[in-house]
Amino acid sequence: MLRIAIQSKGRLNEESLALLSDIGISVDDSKRKFLSKAPNFPIEVLYMRDDDIPQVVSSGTSALGIVGLNEVEEKGLPVNIVKKLGFGTCRVSLAIPKGEEYNGPEFFNGKRIATSYPNILKKYLKANNINAEIEIITGSVEIAPAAGIADAICDLVSSGGTLVSNGLKEVESIVYSEAVLIANPSLTADQQETLNEMLFRLDSAIVSRGKKYLLMNIPQSKMDEAIKILPAMRSPTVMPLAAEGWCSMHSVVDEDDLWDKIRQLKNIGAEGILVLNVDKIIP
Ligand code: ATP
Ligand code: ZN
Repeated sequence: MLRIAIQSKGRLNEESLALLSDIGISVDDSKRKFLSKAPNFPIEVLYMRDDDIPQVVSSGTSALGIVGLNEVEEKGLPVNIVKKLGFGTCRVSLAIPKGEEYNGPEFFNGKRIATSYPNILKKYLKANNINAEIEIITGSVEIAPAAGIADAICDLVSSGGTLVSNGLKEVESIVYSEAVLIANPSLTADQQETLNEMLFRLDSAIVSRGKKYLLMNIPQSKMDEAIKILPAMRSPTVMPLAAEGWCSMHSVVDEDDLWDKIRQLKNIGAEGILVLNVDKIIP
């Protein structure tokens, strides 16, 4: 049995559960307890505050965990980062009141900086030879300057909307973060085997994310042009149609490029274009 710690509620909870479900590990979320066992895979899910996940994984209480890289860096405990998961992307940044002039990290000399990430901040200040005072605050760091608690903040930023609505501007980005799968550094052989199976499935789930399956009819004379437009794992699948001079083409495309590709294919005479969801890709 392998245990995986995920955030019990908050920004990473839903996507962590969705990812587990994508790789065939379903846990009954409606009857959520502290610990729930997957019925179809030798794994149990432990629900925790994200701050505690690096600790339970490094101590071995939980073999695995899904947590933001920011928490891993902040705690600095020995865990292996096994895989980047591509969601929960954000950065730990320094921000100051928007009216202040900024001309480099020396700005922070002698200033008070509010943060929930004292270790990440300390490391940055040391590397840049800056003497500043750190005020540790655990929630709503962004209100600290307006409340007179600090001159600047060091906090998580994704879109930057929260900063703007608090009259702040981002001036330095210190650490990049996304959700990662972490593991205890000394797994047993059995645990390693379960993790390997998870990783195999995860690769397929991550590859399939944001992919669409495209089918269409193309005049045979335009096939070469269509192949150039449509990349595929090897090359697009082409099948002859009963109608003379036409064939059917299938390919997988990135959702981001979908409409662009469709426009190009229409321009060379593609007809009857079908777009389907991709469930799994096993390379
Ligand atoms: P908990 O109650 O579990 O301690 P929390 O309030 O510390 O929750 P959340 O706000 O749910 O944490 O954020 C969890 C993680 O989501 C962060 O540690 C970070 O990795 C990621 N994240 C992504 N974008 C953002 C963002 N804009 N602001 C805050 N966190 C973000
Ligand atoms: Zn937290």
